[in-house]
Amino acid sequence: MENSKTLQRLSRRLETAAGKAIADYNMIEDGDTVLVCISGGKDSYAMLSILMALQRRAPVNFRLIAMNLDQKQPGFPADVLPRYLAELGVDYRIVEQDTYSIVKEKIPEGKTTCSLCSRLRRGVIYRTAKELGANKIALGHHRDDIVHTLFLNLLFGGKLKGMPPKLLTDDGAHVVIRPLAYCSEHDIARYARGMAFPIIPCNLCGSQSNLQRQKIREMMAEWDTRYPGRTESVFTAMQNIVPSHLADTALFGFKDLRVGQTLDAMDGGDLVFDDPFQESLPPATSVVTIQRSES
Ligand code: SF4
Repeated sequence: MENSKTLQRLSRRLETAAGKAIADYNMIEDGDTVLVCISGGKDSYAMLSILMALQRRAPVNFRLIAMNLDQKQPGFPADVLPRYLAELGVDYRIVEQDTYSIVKEKIPEGKTTCSLCSRLRRGVIYRTAKELGANKIALGHHRDDIVHTLFLNLLFGGKLKGMPPKLLTDDGAHVVIRPLAYCSEHDIARYARGMAFPIIPCNLCGSQSNLQRQKIREMMAEWDTRYPGRTESVFTAMQNIVPSHLADTALFGFKDLRVGQTLDAMDGGDLVFDDPFQESLPPATSVVTIQRSES
């Protein structure tokens, strides 16, 4: 358990990081109603707590409504979240929908159920947001989730695609935001321990964990142990993309590249040959000319 000073410092760091992400992506505006999705895991508890702290001193007015979807998984402790949210004094809605039975019925035993389960869950969340008049939906994914998703798509999906801090739903009715996009899982886990959130285990559905995602988590954990700061560095890279040095013809006009174009015209061109040290090089002192003998 963290002592109170450490916990205070940690919560300030998380609030600063979340506040910066919210500002950078303009996630929350005056008059917004934000549906905060709470699963009972450490990330969503932390998100709600941080959003409530930021709301108290935000220069804009917005409303938070916490929402939990009770998917009727066996052993789900249905009383934990209502009690916690009521004590917290936040508006909340518990939605009961038996997606567990649908998933069990549709997916053969032994197969991963997460993809159908999350599709069904997304549908219920969007419907609830509509019912409650929420224009924003906040999810508790953090920086590590975003980086892991990038590698998952890269290594198993052949796509350079992550998990955006902000996105529009397909029907254009809601904006999904990830206020913890700049927060590390490590900090969130320590914060959750310090705050003693009533964590609900996430394996109640009995699904095997996603093996590919697990492999990526292990890979990143190993990299981070050997070379600390890799996850942070990869996330920074996601905000600093150079299309001219990837290979997507839809993103960069490779076909139109011609001798004599200026850097501006290249839109995203990189100074690959403009090595800053080149200017300090002395002029070449000798030139060797090779003449082919005519025999
Ligand atoms: S772990 Fe279980 S509850 Fe979570 S998405 Fe997968 S099937 Fe659904």
